[in-house]
Amino acid sequence: MDLLVAISLGLTLTCSAETISCQATYAGMLPPGHVAAGVLLGERRSRRTAQHPLLLIAGGIAIGVLPDLDVLLPKLLSRAGIEHELDSGVHHSWITHTPVFWGWVTLTARRLAQRPRAPAWAADVAGMLATGTAVHLAQDSLANTVALLWPVRRRRYGFQLDRLPGVTDHAEYARRYPASPAAKVEALLVLAAAVTCARRLGGSA
Ligand SMILES: [Zn+2]
Repeated sequence: MDLLVAISLGLTLTCSAETISCQATYAGMLPPGHVAAGVLLGERRSRRTAQHPLLLIAGGIAIGVLPDLDVLLPKLLSRAGIEHELDSGVHHSWITHTPVFWGWVTLTARRLAQRPRAPAWAADVAGMLATGTAVHLAQDSLANTVALLWPVRRRRYGFQLDRLPGVTDHAEYARRYPASPAAKVEALLVLAAAVTCARRLGGSA
């Protein structure tokens, strides 16, 4: 079911976004927004599994920020002495921010979870990967643009609510982002996650 939700989310966003924006900028929703989405994902999952809610919320947060770990790649390559031309400011154009890549990761995780010797928590991880990474790409497409149709098209699609077209410097982006409509959406998400988390872990929901 989680995979179906992920696919339909991606398709809906792609169809509606194509007519709205195709500008190429490369930041997106900031870590608090992805962490908040991860909290909500973990809390929702905790309602239908035997795992401890705190464990699932922590897992949801890790999955929520997972696609953005690609910004570390240029530094890791540089430290290893490997020459490259990667710029983390354009990571939304990399394969690590495409539905195809995360669809493949999710299907692989699901296959591994279905093996007879797989631990019980593997199914939770596979299910949360599908939803969490789809939501991450949806958030980045709402705030900015992402290559949703890669490899069919390299063009990036999104609503660009960050209002920061062309800004690829992370420091400048973080400084100007709070004034944007995307930041307001993100603030609401953080508020919803805080309330949900407090209620769930407090035992009143
Ligand atoms: Zn991202």
